Amino acid sequence: MKIVDIQPWVIEQELENPFYFSQWHYASRKICLVKVTLEDGTYGWGEGYGPADVIKAGIEFFKPHILGQNALETETIWQIMYLRSLDFGRSGIFQAAIAAIDVALWDVKGKVLNQPVSVLLGGVKNPVIQPYATGFYFTDAPTMEEDFIKEAELYKQQGFKAAKMKVGLGLEKDVYWVNFLSKALGEDVRLMIDANHGYNYREAYELCRQIEHLNIGWFEEPVAPDDYNGYKKLRENTSIPIAGGECEYLRHGFRRLFENDCVDIAQPDICATGGLTEVKRIATLAQAYHKDIVPHSWGTWIAISAAVHLVGNLDQNPGRMNRECPMIELDRTENPLRDDVVNHSLKFDNGFIPVPDAPGLGVDVNQEFLEKYASNNTTISGEFEVRA
Ligand SMILES: [Mg+2]
Repeated sequence: MKIVDIQPWVIEQELENPFYFSQWHYASRKICLVKVTLEDGTYGWGEGYGPADVIKAGIEFFKPHILGQNALETETIWQIMYLRSLDFGRSGIFQAAIAAIDVALWDVKGKVLNQPVSVLLGGVKNPVIQPYATGFYFTDAPTMEEDFIKEAELYKQQGFKAAKMKVGLGLEKDVYWVNFLSKALGEDVRLMIDANHGYNYREAYELCRQIEHLNIGWFEEPVAPDDYNGYKKLRENTSIPIAGGECEYLRHGFRRLFENDCVDIAQPDICATGGLTEVKRIATLAQAYHKDIVPHSWGTWIAISAAVHLVGNLDQNPGRMNRECPMIELDRTENPLRDDVVNHSLKFDNGFIPVPDAPGLGVDVNQEFLEKYASNNTTISGEFEVRA
């Protein structure tokens, strides 16, 4: 089943309500999607995470090397792309371009074989997934307290059992807002915090010390991604579970994270670190180090659906009858690209998502909205998509 076309699309939309986190402000969302078409007209969709224009360039670099390949040979094509870029891109954007194509290949493979991706990955070991809500971004609105309370109430009504907020504004502000949201969410919704590597070890430790009594689900990216020693020390000195990995690439990057005992929860982004083919390998490595996997996910329903299928296939580690439902990240911030452009087959059931059984990822793209948001010929802002 030969590949006859690979078409990247950059889509962008300005936000009605800009927001910020520990690193920078954001006023628009911008994403690179890719459509892979086979000789019989069957097609699959993929998505890259990171600077969309650069990922598009990466996809165009790989295109001539994989046109004519058999789309069902996902590992063979992955290796072709990896070896073509190894000398220049052992981590970073080239891996996101590989990821976008790889996710599209798994989608089209599922359509050709009439099977959901989770079955093709080896089977559905976790039939139901628990999404957690990512939100509570900072704004300049004077009504932020009221807005956060409304947002917390919405998540509770929607059945979420966990939600994640941003930290990294400075210790005093962080302690205030973590206490505020912990109270607003109450005992039934667990709160996680994410600093997007905005602190050094000493600051991260002090924040942990002051909020440790609040039963925080995890502290994500507390320190710089290269500060393996800071991660390790923090993990040894706090009872709050430590999470990280959205800036890490391929099994080799995650091996460093695991060998240094940096995290309790590893968060590979399927659309950034080599796609489903590579994240399945990372998941196997995580199991060997007895670490949990909760993928980082940020983007359209293509990325979210890829995470659902991957987590549906994860091994139980450790196995037991009564275990917590495996999780995925579900970004709840404003994103017209996610909600208008991609149709999906995920069904939400009081805070849980059954792994869908539609062929492939169970997604399709609305061509009208794709063209409406397409910025293939222009650069509106050139800004990098915000990290979750
Ligand atoms: Mg994050």
